[in-house]
Formats: sequence, C-alpha cells, structure tokens
Amino acid sequence: MALIVQKYGGTSVGNPERIKNVAKRVAKFHAQGHQVVVVVSAMSGETNKLIALAKEISASPDPRELDQICSTGEQVTIGLLAMALKDIGVPARSYTGGQVKVLTDSTFTKARILSIDESNMRADLDAGKVVVVAGFQGVDEHGNITTLGRGGSDTSGVALAAALKADECQIYTDVDGVYTTDPRVVPEARKLDTITFEEMLEMASLGSKVLQIRSVEFAGKYKVKLRVLSSFQDEGEGTLITVEEDKNMEQPIISGIAFNRDEAKLTMLGVPDTPGIAYQILGSIAEANVDVDMIIQNVGHDGTTDFSFTVNRGDFAKAQAILEEVKVKLGAREVTGDNKICKVSAVGVGMRSHPGVASKMFKALADEGINIQMISTSEIKISVVLDEKYLELAVRVLHRAFGLDQQ
Ligand code: ADP
Ligand code: ASP
Ligand code: MG
Repeated sequence: MALIVQKYGGTSVGNPERIKNVAKRVAKFHAQGHQVVVVVSAMSGETNKLIALAKEISASPDPRELDQICSTGEQVTIGLLAMALKDIGVPARSYTGGQVKVLTDSTFTKARILSIDESNMRADLDAGKVVVVAGFQGVDEHGNITTLGRGGSDTSGVALAAALKADECQIYTDVDGVYTTDPRVVPEARKLDTITFEEMLEMASLGSKVLQIRSVEFAGKYKVKLRVLSSFQDEGEGTLITVEEDKNMEQPIISGIAFNRDEAKLTMLGVPDTPGIAYQILGSIAEANVDVDMIIQNVGHDGTTDFSFTVNRGDFAKAQAILEEVKVKLGAREVTGDNKICKVSAVGVGMRSHPGVASKMFKALADEGINIQMISTSEIKISVVLDEKYLELAVRVLHRAFGLDQQ
C-alpha cells in the first residue's frame, strides 16, 4: 500500500464528464488499497475568466481581492470531484487550502508555501477516505486567502506530497509526459522517459509550462518522486524526474528546447559611462517589483554606453515609465523598447562535456536568416532573444539541429 498524491490540471477536469473520469481513475487506485490525496486545478479557462472579470472592474486589481476571486475556481472543482467520488462509492472529503492549512506568506498572487498541516488529511486517509484538495491556494498567518502564481497547482501537489512523505507525486495533464519541446509547436517532439531535476528546472524556468518551476524546486529539495502523466490515457509510465543522470545511456548534448513569448526588451541609449549606472537603472526597476531577466551593457564610447535588459511582457509599460524618469535623472539620451520579442533556449546537462553547442545553435539560426538580439548562457543552457515572429521557426530548426526528433 502506497500513499500517492495525484494532481489533475485544468483540462483534465475541464467538464463534468472529465471530472467523472478522474473519479474513476482515483477509485481504481483506492480499490488497490492505496491512500490517495488528489489536488485539482480550476476547470480549464476558469482562472482566466475570473481574472478578466476582475479587470472589468479595475484595471489593476487589488492583489488581495484578486486572490479572493481567483481561488474560487479550484473550490468549485474540489466539491465536484468529491461528489463524483462519493457517487461511485468512494468515501471522499474536499478541502480548500485554508481548511488543510497550507500556510503561505502574504505575497498575494505569488505567495510561497511556508508549512502544511497534515493532521486533517492524515486522519481522513487513516479512515479510508480520499482527500481532495484545492490546488493553487493557501492562507496567510492572518487568515487571508493567497494564491501561488499561475500554474501553482503543480506546486500544491508536490508540496502536499513532501509534507505527507508520499511515495509518489503524479502530475496528470493533457500530454503524456515531458517532451523534447512543446509538442503543440513541434509535432516531431519526443516524450522523454526521464529528465533530471536540473534540466527540468531550467526547462520550467525558461518557459515550458508543463510544470510550474516551484514544483520542481520543491520536489528536488524534499526528494519527492515526481512523475508527469496523461489523464487521458490508461497506459504509460509518463516521464519520471530523476535526481541522477542515466549513466547507462549515452547522454544527449541537448535534452530539450524551451521558449517563452512573455518577454519584452528595454534599452537606455547614451547613458553616461560612470560607476553605479547599473544600480541606478536596475535598482529603480527592482523597487517597483519588476523581475529583470537578461542584462547587456555595451562597451562604452564617447563616455556613454547603451544598457539593455528584458522583463516580463506584462511589466513592459511599468518598466518603460520608470526608465523615462531614470533617463532624465542620469542625463541619458533615449529609452527604446520592444515588446514583440521571445526567448528560445537549448537545455541539457550534456553541454558540460561538449564544447561547440553555442556555435551550432547560432549557425542553425543564421542559416534561416534569424537575427539574434541577445544571448545568455549558463553551464547547462543557452538562451537567445529573437523577434517574436521567428519563435516557431527557431524552435523547429533547433529541435532538428540537435537531433531531438530522432530516437
Ligand atoms: P495543466 O492544466 O494540466 O496544468 P498545462 O497547460 O499547465 O496543463 O501544461 C501542459 C502543457 O504544457 C501541454 O499541453 C503542452 O502544450 C505544454 N508544454 C510546454 N512545453 C512542454 C514540454 N517540453 N513537454 C510537454 N508539454 C509541454
Ligand atoms: N488554476 C490556476 C491557473 O490557471 C492554477 C493551475 O492551473 O495550476 O493558473
Ligand atoms: Mg499547469
């Protein structure tokens, strides 16, 4: 008998029929004698609808109130799934994040989990019940409802698995595992049987939304056995996220291609080339709670330099307004911006032992006439910023160039 945490994403609980199917799958594990905790997302599209509704009232919704609103999507699904389970004879009980007591900090809309009280869940499991928990949400020390950021139900699932020391955390979604790249963009993408935590962390942070990055961090930190599977197939082992590289296999140089459309670039031209400018520019941006990703400062000439960086597209206007103010203070010449860019990245631990990956990537893009605007590298990834219109082409070309479409 094992303790299993199963997380079902929005599409997997997207309508009553699918919720009944999830109930059947859970019932099967329960009948085999396993203890099962199920974490669910809102039905697909619901969170987007709730956010859009809030924005009809207020252009920049109050974060606390936004979390009150957004958390309701998951509350509907837990009730529906618990009912579906009871209807087929499986004892079940639903919990909101607050009822479990998933304690978080008070950073509304992107709260971090601090602790999880397992006592209610444990009592129900010991009594033979299936526990159904609302993903994506928690409660802060003052009793305010918080949410964990988009895609946060993955993190709820893994965090519950860590707290309960579950034997496995299964993430059920609309694809049957982690692929070499998003199979919706490259149909030749291949499912990976295993991927290391390190690579999965990079893939998630560089835009592969199949797992929320924090869920991978949690799983790595608390040694949760994590697997991604399809909720639409009865067979298949999905993808196992592993601690160790598979020593038996010839390690591919690149394991996957990740991409992110949610990017924007800002440049301050003609900044006086003096100590402290990076601090003055980026300090003001950080104060406004805007995350900065890639940064480039050019070699100075004529006593001035150009300074570029990227931010999330949603923060573009805010960052641009801040830069206009900083420009005046610094006596810089001009602020320019582009919110039609994307980032495409090649990820693989095999890169460590294989030089020449970057030049192969640059050549493949050059052969297609794709201009690279920015580059950043780390030990196991290379990212490039491109005009958004090249995204699909670049991903397909790189996927082929690194032989990811071949077995
Ligand atoms: P859920 O609602 O179940 O959480 P998501 O939409 O958040 O599902 O994540 C699953 C989606 O992630 C897939 O439908 C797929 O389009 C996308 N995706 C992006 N990159 C990858 C990848 N490397 N492997 C598999 N899926 C990926
Ligand atoms: N419902 C939330 C979202 O759409 C959380 C999740 O699906 O993981 O972002
Ligand atoms: Mg998701």
